[in-house]
Amino acid sequence: MKTIGLIGGMSWESTQHYYRLINEGVRERLGGLHSAKINMVSVEFNHVQELQHADRWEELGQELADAASKLEVSGADGILICTNTMHKVYDTVCKAVNVPVLHIASPTGTAIREQGLRSIILLGTAFTMEEEFYRDRLERQFGLKVIVPDEPDRKLIHRVIFDELVQGRIVNSSRDQFVSIIESLVERGGEGVIAGCTEIGLLVKQEQVAVPYFDTTELHANAAVEFALA
Ligand code: GLU
Repeated sequence: MKTIGLIGGMSWESTQHYYRLINEGVRERLGGLHSAKINMVSVEFNHVQELQHADRWEELGQELADAASKLEVSGADGILICTNTMHKVYDTVCKAVNVPVLHIASPTGTAIREQGLRSIILLGTAFTMEEEFYRDRLERQFGLKVIVPDEPDRKLIHRVIFDELVQGRIVNSSRDQFVSIIESLVERGGEGVIAGCTEIGLLVKQEQVAVPYFDTTELHANAAVEFALA
């Protein structure tokens, strides 16, 4: 079995979920007492979010590249950046190591195409919804039409992620707001939804959404299991 390297802590609320999902996935596949081989570097999230909001992405790229190098030295055979947003520095991280870095949008795009969908709603931080680094990959690599909420709704989603979800607060009224944003975008042609922030799956589940729902944490964790056992 290969060793999976996790760059976690962004936030730890979702990293603990990754840890559980990857171990459950290995147990499902191998049974009995089997578990995943995982090494982790967990960063300090307040520092990360300060640099994000100050637009200091080069420094962030360097810090995650250092984390990836530590994981490679520790014996990791492949690396996951356990957040959608920080895939903005994916290329910098890849350049720092000789092992593969499994991009979170790849299993997501594959799952969407497997269901035959073409037009997809993307929810995430403002960085993920508004910038090109994430949407571009979905559009160019998977031929998807990406729909994002209008500005007031993007602000609301970003605020809920940082003021609630990464702090472990699950608020029912926020869930209702997310669901109504999704419903309005389905009316505008969205055929499915990407929970494109690794904490959104803690708030909104498939049963609350009428169209197919793609939880990036689950999809990324499954990709790690496939990689480890391949
Ligand atoms: N976990 C989140 C994501 O998937 C947000 C935290 C961050 O800004 O990295 O984008």
